[in-house]
Amino acid sequence: MNQQSTRIDNESHASDKSLRVYHVVYEPTFKSIIFHHWTECNLKCLGCYCKVEKLDFSLLPDWQARVATNPPEKPPEKLLSLDEALAMTDALDIERAIFIGVEPSLDPGMPVLAREMKQRHKTYNILFTNGVFLTDISSIDEIIFSIKAVSPERYHEYTAGDNRKSLANFRKIYQMGKKLQAEITLIPGVIDADEIEKVAEFIASVDPDIPLRITGFIQLSGMKFRAPSGAEVEAAAALAKKHLKKVNYLSGEMPRVGEPPIRLF
Ligand code: SF4
Repeated sequence: MNQQSTRIDNESHASDKSLRVYHVVYEPTFKSIIFHHWTECNLKCLGCYCKVEKLDFSLLPDWQARVATNPPEKPPEKLLSLDEALAMTDALDIERAIFIGVEPSLDPGMPVLAREMKQRHKTYNILFTNGVFLTDISSIDEIIFSIKAVSPERYHEYTAGDNRKSLANFRKIYQMGKKLQAEITLIPGVIDADEIEKVAEFIASVDPDIPLRITGFIQLSGMKFRAPSGAEVEAAAALAKKHLKKVNYLSGEMPRVGEPPIRLF
């Protein structure tokens, strides 16, 4: 796969390489560094946790209570330059770099940071994205793709967007040979189990070996939607398993594993 084939659209992003990282966390147990990006997201998801909590949840034992009660977050006061972000990594043993936050694919500096991390630390690079905009992923090894919904009206209701680009990009990323995982949130009354089965059918039409992770919605301040029960998440997973070989699911509390994470910025 040459570099050209993974560099896509958007001239304005390509011409501006400034970085939009506002928060960095290191997980010593997993030798992972997590870069949180802050951009103008191209979607307006009803269940967007970034709008009520900017800190990495691994730092917050009470994150569920915080997202249920926090007022909307303000934009970060400081963004790191590429040199500042890389300087934080110098003395660390890092095997994995994770690019996450408010749509990291829209950060024009993300591909440069990913390339530098790979060159300096030989990292395995993982990008979390909504997939609406396909940036330069030549230095990304794995994509965690948040599909949201496949039915156009459901997708629009949840994100105020149009899912044609993201579904096309899902196929494109797969065809590029990148490791790909899908994720979706079960939100009773918005993204129900029947929609999750349709998402599973779509993924299976690309490759039934692509893993799907189903997450139960966590109560969010200002949102009327409720969290699903564990049984509801399990039932949605059972429908998805009719079409896909690898389905896992999370509902509610995730037990913390390993040493405490370290906030670098
Ligand atoms: S795509 Fe992600 S960052 Fe953007 S609104 Fe949705 S949840 Fe928030």
